[in-house]
Amino acid sequence: MAQSDVDVVVVGAGFAGMYLLHELRKTGFSYRVLEAGDDVGGTWYWNRYPGARCDVSTTDYQYTWDPELHEQWQWSEKHAAQPEILRYAQFVAKKHDLYSDIEFKVRVNGAQWNEKTKRWSIHTSTGEKISCQHYVMATGCLSVPKEPDIAGTEKFTGNVYVTGRWPHEGVDFTGKRVAVIGTGSSGIQSIPHIADQAKELVVFQRTPNFSMPAFNGPAPQYRVERLKADRATYEREARYSGTGVPMEDSTVSALSVTQEEAFAMLEAAWQKGELLSLGNTFMDSAINRKANDVVAEFMRMKVRSVVKDPEVAELLSPYKHGYGTKRPCMDTGYFETFNKPHVRLVDLNAQPIRSITETGIDFGNESKDFDAIVYATGFDAMTGAIVNVDIAGKDGVTLKDKWENGPLTYLGLTSVGFPNLYMITGPGSPSVLSNMMVSIEQHVDWIRDTLVHMRDNGFETIEPTPLAEEGWRVHCTDCADITIFQEANSWYMGANVPGKPRVMFPYIGGVGRYRMACEEVVAKGYLGFELASGAKKQCNDGLVREVQPDVDMVLDFISTLNLPAMETMSPAEARAFSEASSAMRPSGPEVGEITDGVLQGADGNLEYRLYRPATPGPHPIAVYFHGGGWVFGSHTSDDPLCRDLCAQSNTLIVSVNYRHAPEAPFPAAAEDGFAALKWVHKNAAALGGIPEKIAVAGWSAGGNVAAVTAQMARDKGGPQLSGQLLLCPVTDGSQQHASHRENGERFILTKSLMEWFWDHYATPEQRKNPQASPLLAASLAELPPTMLVTCQFDPLRDEGNAYARALMQAGVEVEHVEARGHIHTSITMVDMLPSGAPHRREMAQALKGFFN
Ligand SMILES: Cc1cc2nc3c(=O)[nH]c(=O)nc-3n(C[C@H](O)[C@H](O)[C@H](O)COP(=O)(O)OP(=O)(O)OC[C@H]3O[C@@H](n4cnc5c(N)ncnc54)[C@H](O)[C@@H]3O)c2cc1C
Repeated sequence: MAQSDVDVVVVGAGFAGMYLLHELRKTGFSYRVLEAGDDVGGTWYWNRYPGARCDVSTTDYQYTWDPELHEQWQWSEKHAAQPEILRYAQFVAKKHDLYSDIEFKVRVNGAQWNEKTKRWSIHTSTGEKISCQHYVMATGCLSVPKEPDIAGTEKFTGNVYVTGRWPHEGVDFTGKRVAVIGTGSSGIQSIPHIADQAKELVVFQRTPNFSMPAFNGPAPQYRVERLKADRATYEREARYSGTGVPMEDSTVSALSVTQEEAFAMLEAAWQKGELLSLGNTFMDSAINRKANDVVAEFMRMKVRSVVKDPEVAELLSPYKHGYGTKRPCMDTGYFETFNKPHVRLVDLNAQPIRSITETGIDFGNESKDFDAIVYATGFDAMTGAIVNVDIAGKDGVTLKDKWENGPLTYLGLTSVGFPNLYMITGPGSPSVLSNMMVSIEQHVDWIRDTLVHMRDNGFETIEPTPLAEEGWRVHCTDCADITIFQEANSWYMGANVPGKPRVMFPYIGGVGRYRMACEEVVAKGYLGFELASGAKKQCNDGLVREVQPDVDMVLDFISTLNLPAMETMSPAEARAFSEASSAMRPSGPEVGEITDGVLQGADGNLEYRLYRPATPGPHPIAVYFHGGGWVFGSHTSDDPLCRDLCAQSNTLIVSVNYRHAPEAPFPAAAEDGFAALKWVHKNAAALGGIPEKIAVAGWSAGGNVAAVTAQMARDKGGPQLSGQLLLCPVTDGSQQHASHRENGERFILTKSLMEWFWDHYATPEQRKNPQASPLLAASLAELPPTMLVTCQFDPLRDEGNAYARALMQAGVEVEHVEARGHIHTSITMVDMLPSGAPHRREMAQALKGFFN
């Protein structure tokens, strides 16, 4: 007789539920495992349609928790077919005697949290109520087939099949007229097999999909060899990789090679027959539309090379979504199928289905009879199985209601208001964007360790905090925002289910980075969770990922280079180092013209570089001062940023090479700034600018020079400025601000580098001078309208913020942008860090605004 009161209830006996059962047993918890089907295997139990196969190689799509399995189980193919994967699940279940502890044909319909008893009550299809402390949804991301939203489906009297609920005895289509609706992965896998049998096959396609041949055969030799040589390292690499399959990240931009070279690289990836290889050929195909187009065009070229009828080939070629933004597929003879005389493709955009009828389908202006209709219409992915269960948490709030506008989770594992509820591969975790075996094992391990931690430390409940959950939502959105995934109407975005909110459901920041976030949460005492038992509470509230994801990647990359600290160098060495680093940047957008010249500084000539917009002039002018701590940099060193500002704001940018310390210390830079402004103003017309429309701009130390120049222009009789644009400016060298300490170590501009800059530029006494520290000016009144950008993880953040506040208090019109998750350098990294682009747009808008 099963216990009605246990530590843990697990719902689902796919790979997730099976592994969790094993671990709960090992760690001595009492449990019940409930499964709606009548065998283990989950996905591979239900999806028995012909051609159903895993797209990840068998070297990677298998459990790692039982090393014996690697000897005891031999896969027959590179991409295992459904029957073999199901046999594998059954083999594992038998080996570990899991069957004895799984209750089959039991569906969980509801779950209620009792705040008094701190327990869940689980309601099953057998009418039983089970009380448990912890409730785990191992219900699968792709386990609820989507109901076809087509009129008349109930009328059809022929045979109806749904790929995700395929009859166990199989289906024989020999001599039949068959319709397949849907061309996602299940459609693409099953269509060639159905075509082999059917007398006539009509495929109804709404959206063509990218698919590459699986080239099935033995497992990839190079993976087999690596596994044999050092399995532990291989598995570790998988766990910390982007997708859960060890793969070297590309460092090549698709835009840095010719189309011929790009296609040659893609051909090599294609020949590998590995799902992730094409998307991994270039570093930027997921984040840059033009880079993605290169891959997409290669794929379309492949379709054209196979499909004989050019019109059909065109219909089968995706144009409306980027490669990878909908799940790419692997096939065996899919496109070839459309060369067969008895196979027809119907484009639902041109000939929509009007209705399913008793005998067939009415579409466009045709009516066609069929013996069978196959719905390959996909799944209510990621959340379907979870909200199918009526889960009521604290105060009776249901998860379905809470998630009305999109799933809210912390780490994709837990949700506020639902203590002790865990989701395996839930929304907000890498899940369907990963090799799911790796993600499943990680989640099971995390849940097991958490349960053990709670038991060992006498905690009854665990629940994420609202701050942590909201922070995770923001982080997930930040990750999605830097990609082009959101452009596609994909099931990743909930777009296939009417009424489902449009958000990115899986976490797109990568398997390894996600895992590190989970590890960090635990290492920091369950950061963002409240653990409690009666009056005993532990809560280390906070956010686990605050730096913008692309900035974080750059920081991680830089940390691997073991670069010397610039403050340990001589100025000459630091200048050479800075120049060498700048040489590797993308150049920035095209502008109308770039010319170099010489202008009159405070003590001799200064070089300048002029960036002219492509539009007819004359243009407003911004006199720009570069960053580099007054020690290094030049009129050309902020080239990409100047190009970007010029192109986006339609402003003529004059970047000035003011004198540098220590050779020319304070007040040389300030005096040069003012002199350059006067010269540019005087020569504005000759430069192609409008003298009455002139602003100053600068970044970092250049922001300091710009701010000081604006004050000098105000105090010394002009020129009258239209505005000042200050990006992460140095405004106060006279004192320490909290951000110097908080952000002083990890974020490229360090506290000690900043001190090195000041030491070269100005003495402690000089730093009190407003021409070194503009924040200290007696008055900031009557300065021009200001756009001031500060970055959250910049040591200079607080002095920039203080300057913005002081300007506002002095009555100056200020637009102050506090760039969340950014560091001192990130917004200047044009075409490298997509997360900086919106702020550069704001800066360009502000410049335009100054002049209107
Ligand atoms: C056609 C197809 C191809 C795929 N190919 C790949 C691939 O190439 N690579 C990859 O990594 N992943 C692939 N996947 C994803 C696949 O779902 C996962 O790899 C993995 O099998 C999921 O295991 P799971 O245990 O988390 O969930 P599932 O296997 O979905 O198991 C969940 C179980 O929970 C049960 N359940 C759900 N709700 C309830 C309830 N209320 N009460 C009781 N029981 C319930 C279901 O019956 C099911 O058995 C594919 C999925 C599909 C559908």
